[in-house]
Parts: sequence; structure tokens; C-alpha cells
Amino acid sequence: MGAPLYAAGQRKGAAVQKQLPEIPFAALITSDAPIAANAHGGRAKCLQRLVRLDLPVPCTVALSFDAVRGIAEGQMPELATILGEFPDDALLCVRPSSEDPDWGGPGAVLNVGMNDARYVDLCDSMGAQAAAALYLRFVQSYAVHVARLDPDVFDAVSEDGPEALGLILQAYEAETDEAFPQDRGEQLAAVLRSMARAWDGTTARLLRQAKGAPVDAGLGLVVQEMVPGLGQGECGSGVLQLINSQTGKPQITGRYLSQSQGRDALGAGAAALYLEQDPRGPALADVAPAAFADLKSHAALMRQRLREAMQVEFVIENGHVHILDGVRVARSARAAVRIAVALAEDGIISPQEAVMRIDAHSLNELLHRQVDPLATREVIGTGIAASPGAATGRLVFTAAEAQASASRREPCILVRRETSPEDIRGMHAAVAVLTEKGGITSHAAVIGRGLGLPCIVGASSLKFLSKEKQLVTTEGRVFKAGDIVTIDGSSGEVLAGQPAMLEAALDDAFQTLMGWADAERDIGIRANADTPADAQLARNFDAQGIGLCRTEHMFFEPGRLTVMREMIFAETSFGRAAVLARLLPMQRGDFYELFRIMAGMPVCIRLFDPPLHEFLPTTRTGQRELSEALGIPVRDVTRRVEEMGEYNPMLGLRGVRLGVTVPEIYDMQARAIFEAALDASKEGAPVVPEIMIPLVSAKREVELVKARIDAVAAAVKSERGVEFDFRLGVMVETPRAALRAADIAPHTAFLSFGTNDLTQMTYGLSRDDAGRFMSDYVRQEVFAEDPFHVLDVEGVGELLKLGVQRGRESNPGVTLSICGEHGGNPESIAFCRAAGFDYVSCSPFRVPVARLAAAQLAIAHMLAGELPASA
Ligand code: PEP
Ligand code: MG
Repeated sequence: MGAPLYAAGQRKGAAVQKQLPEIPFAALITSDAPIAANAHGGRAKCLQRLVRLDLPVPCTVALSFDAVRGIAEGQMPELATILGEFPDDALLCVRPSSEDPDWGGPGAVLNVGMNDARYVDLCDSMGAQAAAALYLRFVQSYAVHVARLDPDVFDAVSEDGPEALGLILQAYEAETDEAFPQDRGEQLAAVLRSMARAWDGTTARLLRQAKGAPVDAGLGLVVQEMVPGLGQGECGSGVLQLINSQTGKPQITGRYLSQSQGRDALGAGAAALYLEQDPRGPALADVAPAAFADLKSHAALMRQRLREAMQVEFVIENGHVHILDGVRVARSARAAVRIAVALAEDGIISPQEAVMRIDAHSLNELLHRQVDPLATREVIGTGIAASPGAATGRLVFTAAEAQASASRREPCILVRRETSPEDIRGMHAAVAVLTEKGGITSHAAVIGRGLGLPCIVGASSLKFLSKEKQLVTTEGRVFKAGDIVTIDGSSGEVLAGQPAMLEAALDDAFQTLMGWADAERDIGIRANADTPADAQLARNFDAQGIGLCRTEHMFFEPGRLTVMREMIFAETSFGRAAVLARLLPMQRGDFYELFRIMAGMPVCIRLFDPPLHEFLPTTRTGQRELSEALGIPVRDVTRRVEEMGEYNPMLGLRGVRLGVTVPEIYDMQARAIFEAALDASKEGAPVVPEIMIPLVSAKREVELVKARIDAVAAAVKSERGVEFDFRLGVMVETPRAALRAADIAPHTAFLSFGTNDLTQMTYGLSRDDAGRFMSDYVRQEVFAEDPFHVLDVEGVGELLKLGVQRGRESNPGVTLSICGEHGGNPESIAFCRAAGFDYVSCSPFRVPVARLAAAQLAIAHMLAGELPASA
């Protein structure tokens, strides 16, 4: 192999530039060749960048997407021109080059051009063993990928070296009835054709689409001169990167294997060398110190100039380094953050670019809870740890059950044999997913990681009895639908019950990135938080306050439910007020805790919302217990429960309708809020509480409730002898409230759009029942997406826009926000920002996602020359 390998630019570049325009499908990769990622793929573009850095890259020709499409359709280009770029005796390799390297592509084929004659030559120059290894590798991959033979065909061959080569060539001939092709052009044509066609296979298509590739994504191919990695002197191949893929911290990682090719070093186990000196075994730094030093400096240069942490694929040929390829280092979400932050801190990219580089959805992966390492783990089954984080919930066995469970706000674990796209909405609704089948790239695993949902796949140690809705352990223990289990998607263990959890650790790089994001963001982010634990999470995630505290959950706590029921059973206003007086200190304590934790930040408390009968016992036993507690006959309890039943409770006596008809509840809550705010202000930062009225549909409702709340405020001020401020707001959850926002806004300091109910009422679609048919609706494209998950910008969005416009016109100072589940969804945030909302409020775990997404919107709009949202 006498001809220079990688001086392509100097060697033939000029000539080729003249030749190749006639063949627009291919270009020799030189510094100034017209190579583009969207025409030739990311790998081709990256190789060009490496050539521009004067790195020792072997001669490479890039085939365009169009060329590869043509090849798949049977139009083989004129190969002589491509082959003319390489020395006559050069071996070649063909690698995929998709637009985004993450979309994958067919496996590389090495040593194209090996034939009997080259084998004889190479036996002389590098020895029979090495020459046979090169030929063997090619025959085997040609047989499997091109001739489509079963790999088992070669199982019988246990030898290696020349004997094995003979046997394998014989096996090839026996299976195909043809001699192994000897012509390099014929070999190359067949390899190109098989790779081009593999790209169109169903599995490849589904896999890349799961990673976000468009339906018509193209594949480029690169044909590169082989540096064999076998032969005399120190020869071998390996990969090197300067950071740890899991943590993102600086650490030289990778492996090197003498006398090897491709990525063999990574699968070679103990035979492979470490790169840096390592107490665990020999290292490349000992064997070839100069090559190791070159590699490190090449990798550092690539980081600096390609502005990215890169993995270097290299070959050492008799002590000399060749760079075959550079790929973006594969990374966990946590590592991605650290890498981007380090690049910005080193001045290689700007902080804004670091913010733009992180996929907001991927933060979920960093933010999930983990099982406390000190907790007792009762392992009932194991599988593949497919998506990190841990979650506890009740077992459900269908996507519809998962959606129903989510609408009841009951965390659930979706258990399926394997998942399909029809399960997506169920996966959205579940806190974790467990499947019997599948591997790390199966549907459940890919989607689970995308959603940041803890996921275990291939849990075949458990028996999945889907019809019976049961899981059976190897010991015969049965877990039924509704039983509580924990999925540890980081370890792959299924645990019985609910072990202690640790919240996500948010490291310094994460905090730095979020600080940069906050500096760019022009829309506020608050959290929906009902409990002190939620509020603490909101603080940890740097929410700018609580945008929605649903107070009804507080009444379900032990010791309070019976008092609540007594209140509901009270016959008179006086009797009701007396029972509510017992609930007052409990509520005051709840609110005080929230105010204390939020330390002066705004806390928006929603007055009682659900229908009262949700608190009444439905079972005989429950009703008997209540009759004992109240000292009234069980018959009376049953009668009252029946009387309170409603045909359509979500459209019945709930929300502000309770405030109007049973006003004592809101009186008590307002008093508890004011007293707690005063107590918290005494001890810390002053608190200006926000009180929100749910389910408003008419101005008069607001006037009536406001009058009573003002009266309570006046009473508390005079009792305590202090002045205080508060803000009263309205939840816009009915279409009428949005349409009549102009009437309502003058009476209110803020309007907060509850898009869960607003979606329900706009569509006339029950939140609790839609799960049963949502999959059908989305599959048949009635809805593009589940509107409870992704904001329906056309319909519900129009109401939001009308509400915003009419509300602002009649009260320019009114604060506007959204507090439905959509508040944490990056696409919905884009809508809210464009519509001029002041803030969005979402569940605490979504807060960082929302902060980052909002910053990315602001930066993108600034780059596009737009004014900030608030301007
Ligand atoms: C809403 O309806 O959007 C909302 C936030 O309230 P809830 O989900 O409690 O009904
Ligand atoms: Mg609501």
C-alpha cells in the first residue's frame, strides 16, 4: 500500500473537483468540496471538518442522499470514477452517513477489495494470519449483509487464520452456489446496494423515526480507504474520548486492541488495552506513548474546533495514528448538560448556545427520583434497565386503564407484553412501564427514555398473565391489577411496595445551565404544588412561586375526612360554620407551611373545587363508620349520600358554585389563608397571598365571592390589628369565562387558565372517560394528539387568545397565566409566550423543563430578530 492515504486534498483534490461535477452523486472529501450534512450526511460533513483541521484522515468519497436513493432503486452510479480516487490495491470500507448521526444506519462493511490475489500479496507484507483475518472479516460481513446468509452458516468454523478462511470461502460457495466475488468494483456495488436498501427496511425506518427522523430522511454513504490495523509493528484500532459518557466529567475513556479493526476493541473484554495508564491493566500510553499523545491532542483539537465533545475512531499503523472518524460522544442527559456547560465555560461556545443544545424534554432523565440506596429492596423480578429513574404506582394492564388512573391522579405502572404506538397515550399517563419482551431499543425503551419515564423491558423472570391482569414471580407470588410496585429503571429491578426514594441530585453544571437559561427567559415559571413536599420540590427546582395549590387534597388526610363529612352533613349554616371552625387551624397550618417554604414568593391558593359528595363514603362499611362518628342512623347517612349524587358531577355543584351556595367553606379558607400569611410574614419575608376562584362562568359569581372574601379580610385585619394585601384571581376553566373575560377581568387581579377543564368543556369531552377511546381517535387522526396532553391550539387555544385579549383590554394590569397540565409542555409554553402570558405553572418536575424550554424560545426569537414576549 504505497500511495499516500490521506493527503486527498493535496493529492487529487483539484483533479477530482474537475471530474466529480459530472457525477453529482459523489464528492471526494477535501477542505473545499461541496459537502453538506443535509445532502451527504453528518459523518461526511464531520470528516470534511477533520480534513480541514489537517488531521490524518484517510482518503474518503462521500455519496449523496440522492445517489444512495438511486442505488436503492437500481441505478448504480459509474463506480470507476469513485474507485479512481483510491490506489488500485487499496482496501475500502463503506460507512453510513445519515443527516443526524443519532438516526443510525446500516453497519459499516470493512475490507472491500479483499480477494484471493490481495490475500497472497498481503500474506507477504503483513503475514498470513493478519491477511486471513482481513479477508475473513470481509467474507463474513459480505455473506451476512450482502448475500443475506444466516450467520449460523459459519458456526462450524472454529479455527482462525488461513484454515478458517478456506473453510469459510467453501461455506460461502456451498450456500450461494457462486464463488466469492473477486472484483473490487463488483464487491463495492453489491455493498452499496445492500446498505442503500437496508435503510429502507421497516425496522430501520421505525428506529430512526423514534429518534425524530423525518419520514423521508436520506442516507449518505462514505467510501474510505482502509488502514488495516493489522500487520507489522504496533498496529491496531480503538476509540477514544476525553469525557465520561455517563457523568460528562473529564476522563479519557475508550479501548485499544492491537491487531484489530473497526470497533473490535470495544467488544474485546480483557484483551483490549486501556488508553491512559491504568492500575487494572496495560494501556496504550505504555505500548505506544507517542501515538497516545497524538491522539489526545487530536481529540482536544476536535473539541476546540468542532465545538463538541467527540469520540475519535482511530487506527494505529506501525505506530502512526490515523483518524477514521469522529462522532459526537454518546451521552446521558446529565452528561449532555455538563458537556455543554464545560464548552461554554471554556469559551468554545456561548452560554446561550449551551442552553440551546440541551433538549428540554431530556431533562426529565436527570430529574427523576431514584430508590434510596439505603432502602430495603424486595426484588420480585428483573429485566433490562431501559430508562432511568424509579417510580411507584398501582399495576394497570392496559393503556386505557393507565389513562383512567391518571385522570384520578393515581400513579400507575403500565404493564404490557410489549408496547406499540397504540400504547403511547397510556405511557404518557403512567409513571413507569414494565414489559415482558423487548430490548434496549424496543418501542417501550425508546419511548420511555424519550418521556423520561422509568422503564424496564424484557422482564421475562416474571410471568405476565395479561388476561388475568396478574404478574407471577418465579416463587409463585401473584401481583394483581391495583397492587403497588416500584419500577427501578436504573437497575432493572421490579420491587414490591414503595421503598424510600431519593430526589434527583441537581449538580453544579445543571444549576449553571439553568442560571443561564433564567437570564434569557422572558416568561415566568411557577409550580403546581399542593403539599409542603411539593412546595419544597418547587423551591429546589427554582420555581418562581406556586401557581396552583389544589386545596381539596388536604381534606382527605387522616383525621380531617370525618370532620369534612360532618361539615357536609350539617343542616344549617350555623352548624356548618361550627364544624368548619375545627378545620380552620388545620388549613391555617397547611398554608403556613407553604408560605414558609416559599419564603415570600407568590403562592396562589385555589379555593375548594370538587363536588362535595366526593368526600362521602360509598361503601356500606364507610357509611356505618360515619353513622357512628356522627351519632345518626346509618339509614340517614345512606339517604344523604344518595340525595347528594349528581348525574354529571363535573358540571354540577362544584367550584365557585359551592362558594355561592355554601359560602362558609370559602370563608373558612380565606380566613385560614390570611391568618397563615400574617403568621408567616411575622417570621420571614412578607407574604402577599393569592386566592383563586375555580370554575367561574359569570361575573356575578366573582362579585359575590369577592364581597365575602373582602369581609373576611376586613375582619382578620381588625382582629389582628394589622393591614395586609392579597390578590384575588379567577380561574378561567369554562368557555364562557374566556368569552366574558372583559366582564370578569376588572374584578380580579389575575386570570389563570385551567386548561384541563377548559379542554374538557371546549370539546365536551370527559377528562375521566376520554382515555377509553383517545387511542382510536388519534389513530384515525380525528385528533392530532390527545388534547389533554398537548394543548389544542386551534380550538382551546382560540379561547385562550380571546380570553387574554378581552381580559387585557378591560384590565391592562391583569396578570395572565396557565395552570393546567399543559403548562409544562414545551410546545404549549411556546403558545403561551406568543399569546402574552406572564407565567406558566406546571408540576414541580416539569419546572426545569419549562425554564429551559422558555429560555430556548426567547433565544430563538432573539436570534430571529424578534422582540421579547413581554415587549
Ligand atoms: C384545570 O382544570 O386546568 C385545573 C388546573 O384544575 P384541575 O385540574 O384541578 O381541575
Ligand atoms: Mg379545573
